[in-house]
Amino acid sequence: MSRLCQLGTGVRFAEIVATRPTADSLAATYVAIDTALSAGDFGAAIAGWELARREWSTWSSLVHLRFAQNTADKQAKADLDYTDALAPEAADLETSLKRRLLAVEQRPMLAALVGEYPLRLWATDVTTFDPSIKPDLEAESKLIARYTELLASARVTISAQTVNLSGLGPYAQHPDRGIRYQAELARWGFFTEHAGELDSIYGQLVALRHGMAKKLGYETFTPLGYRLLRRIDYGPEHVARYRDQVLRHVVPLVGRLLEDRRVANGWDKLRFWDEALIDPAGNPSPIGDHDVLVSAAQTMFDKMDPRLAAFCNLLFSGGFTDLKNRPGKAGGGFCTSFPTVGMPFIFANFNGTHDDIGVFTHEMGHAFQNWQSRHHTSSDCLWPTMEAAEINSMGLEFLSYPRIGYLVGEAAADRFRRMHLLGALSFLPYGVCVDHFQHEVYAHPDASAAERHAMWQRLERLYMPWSNYGDVAFLNKGGRWQAKPHIYGSPFYYIDYTLALCCAMQFWVRSRRDYQAALNSYVELCGRGGSAPFQDLVRSAGLISPFSEGALAGVVAEATAFLGI
Ligand SMILES: [Zn+2]
Repeated sequence: MSRLCQLGTGVRFAEIVATRPTADSLAATYVAIDTALSAGDFGAAIAGWELARREWSTWSSLVHLRFAQNTADKQAKADLDYTDALAPEAADLETSLKRRLLAVEQRPMLAALVGEYPLRLWATDVTTFDPSIKPDLEAESKLIARYTELLASARVTISAQTVNLSGLGPYAQHPDRGIRYQAELARWGFFTEHAGELDSIYGQLVALRHGMAKKLGYETFTPLGYRLLRRIDYGPEHVARYRDQVLRHVVPLVGRLLEDRRVANGWDKLRFWDEALIDPAGNPSPIGDHDVLVSAAQTMFDKMDPRLAAFCNLLFSGGFTDLKNRPGKAGGGFCTSFPTVGMPFIFANFNGTHDDIGVFTHEMGHAFQNWQSRHHTSSDCLWPTMEAAEINSMGLEFLSYPRIGYLVGEAAADRFRRMHLLGALSFLPYGVCVDHFQHEVYAHPDASAAERHAMWQRLERLYMPWSNYGDVAFLNKGGRWQAKPHIYGSPFYYIDYTLALCCAMQFWVRSRRDYQAALNSYVELCGRGGSAPFQDLVRSAGLISPFSEGALAGVVAEATAFLGI
């Protein structure tokens, strides 16, 4: 077992220490790396850089996590601001070193040390940064933090209870139609109250991103956005063709599903707040709260696979999760990691709905991949690019189907599987709409807030023609996208979920024929981590690229047959 494979074993989250970096300490580290390089000692230079990158990454992950855990904590916010200000300095040093490494004459020696693929990634990375954009990067981080903080500050009242946006979850999918409606009124009431600031934050982000792209020599932010996501094997034209496949193969199907739901429930019209009630008998919910679910999850993974079981045990026993919703906590769920110790961390906001199960199995997939990849020597391979990473997460959601009864109760297991699959299909039109919207936004960076809202409405009519917002004015004015953090904080990321879903569903199809073979192939894919570009990883697992004509239609046909729709 190599040193890297021993990473993580026996570590506890509370014991992780990260030295607070300064501009001087970072500069001194890179001087030492440069000196080793000048002396021709590639081995020492690369080893020193790898350590520096892991230390920075662990520090940055801790700071971002602590802010997300309590956005009202002044010290956490101060540390975040400090790190956001320092990050462009770190990026400057790292980019200069990548440029120097890419220019060395001994490229074969370098490739032997780090691999060919990281060199291709660096060649992309160096086109995304220039010292002239440092102040813009800091300003961008501040705006994203402000958006997170604003949403985390929401306190809304529903059924005489005060809750945050995550806490609205059970009401938003309540079997009682009136309660679902009240939940959406409460949610969008908060957004209406902050409409001006939400428009202002996004307007500033778009202007900053467009400005950075211009400084770097691009016409718009779009090519820069793709490069920042390290997409080296496909471009906007591939993504546009994929959106078109969703439009042809999925939009009519989801329209039909929703119409069936309307008729079955005897509603005159299907409203926006009816879409979340997927199961007419009430969406199956977890068998219990946090503690019950955590214990059941361990049992589920024990039954599924010894590799998943052992990792799940390490994660829980080491304290690498924060899953309970509470006031001031940032919304959503994510997985982050601390590469100095080789362990990931799962963040979520359990609210007692089926989303707890979806989020947990999803983030567990990310965490397991990161763990399985810990033997990679280059930081560039610890995580895949995001569309590939979402196969690892969504793949585990589907591969958990046979044992999901442990989390939802055996009596509700069939209903859960059906609900999850229907939810996956219904997600695709929304997912591509969010992506198309961003392509429009960055193609027209001078658009006003009202024009951006009109862009959303146009696309919404194309991809989700069934959307009926009743009398919720904020939604009728094209504001739905403003609740989606990815649009503010992670431009162009969203399509990744839809691309990955096409691949994760292929794992599901295979698992129905030979479960163990599908699971083994999944675990092997996790172990390859980020060692290759998206489509190579997809092919390595025997899956068909979503960009191939027919890939999406194939899984949709299989799902349709399974659901009997
Ligand atoms: Zn994910």
